[in-house]
Amino acid sequence: MTNDNIVYSQSRLGSFDDCRLKYKYHYIDRIESELDTIEAFRGGIVHKVLEELYKLVKVGTVKSLEWAVGLYEDTWEKSYQPNIKIVKKGVTLEGYYQKGKEAVISYYERYKPFDQTKVVDTERSIRFTIRSDGKEYAFLGILDRIDWNDKAQTFEIHDYKTTSSLMTQEEADSDWQLGLYHIALLERWPDAKEVKLVWHSLLFNKEIVSSRTGAQLEDLRRSVIKNIEEIESCEEFHPRKSALCDWCEYQPICPLWKHPKHVETLPVNQYKNEPGVKLVTAYAELESKKQELKGKIFEIEEEEKKIEEAAIEFAEKNKITIIDGPDNQLKVDIRKEQKAPTKMEDTEAWQALRDTLIKEGKYNEVSTVNNNMLNYRIRIWPKEFLEKIKKFLKYQVSKSIRFIKK
Ligand code: SF4
Repeated sequence: MTNDNIVYSQSRLGSFDDCRLKYKYHYIDRIESELDTIEAFRGGIVHKVLEELYKLVKVGTVKSLEWAVGLYEDTWEKSYQPNIKIVKKGVTLEGYYQKGKEAVISYYERYKPFDQTKVVDTERSIRFTIRSDGKEYAFLGILDRIDWNDKAQTFEIHDYKTTSSLMTQEEADSDWQLGLYHIALLERWPDAKEVKLVWHSLLFNKEIVSSRTGAQLEDLRRSVIKNIEEIESCEEFHPRKSALCDWCEYQPICPLWKHPKHVETLPVNQYKNEPGVKLVTAYAELESKKQELKGKIFEIEEEEKKIEEAAIEFAEKNKITIIDGPDNQLKVDIRKEQKAPTKMEDTEAWQALRDTLIKEGKYNEVSTVNNNMLNYRIRIWPKEFLEKIKKFLKYQVSKSIRFIKK
């Protein structure tokens, strides 16, 4: 069954995974965003340079390094807008510019004259279908480059990455995107059973290679369909706070960020009087008072404990149970109690007591040898029966203090 209205993509699935609310804003509510981050901007320019370079390679023209660098510089200059956002602290615009340029240079020098394979297509937009277990969904992907390796007689899918984190082999082996593009290639060239998947981590001048077996592709189809089903049945699109929020275009309307973003722009005097800020400030003051009082109550209880110990000692020494004061009294209660052993403190005695209770038909009165229940029963069972279990019981002296009004 196909949902004819929706065309899925890796970024659509990724967006749902990152934050459901962001997914809703973008794909359901279709709220346009004007935010352009420096990472996306630089990535776009590097992609453009490599696209143009390989378009010419495809028709037999290998341009010089100066040409590639010149194209990078020109495109940057013509496309740069001052509202492009730099999120990372301590990184300058110049730093981004230089790193992008270095990536182009190191890529060029590594692969020139670009004849390792034959270029089939660059920045190719492909619509394909994910099918499994009678279900099918339309997909759209943009493949950075498709090559044909004449020697190995295989296709290669190349992906340019300009992120500042270096992809690991494990990430490449489990990556969905190029796996999906392998499926896309199979739709167009059904004999493309073996496809080399190549990621170029451009800021590190590193190439990471992986591939997928037929069974892995089938697993991928199933996982993707499961994810789509989760997306289509989702009714609650909750925000998910993460490091990605700093790059999210919806911060100004997101319930997690709307207020913080609004108040951070206010001058100090307006900030203090902003109604939300006032509520938080008042609450914070009460919380701090609560903590202070909790600390004081703890100190008072510690003092009380010392007095209780002194009162018990006083009562024992003077053989009294009431200690008199101006308006109140302290009632001292010292008792020697019989107690059932717990399983933890004396397993043997506990087991023997249990056996005796079963034998004497008393076990159902305490359900299990539950200590609370047993201690209660010990107080009400007849003397004759207590005699029978006496040897299993323990004695404990309990001392307590009650504060009473006169
Ligand atoms: S700011 Fe963060 S939590 Fe809010 S929508 Fe964007 S990614 Fe989600």
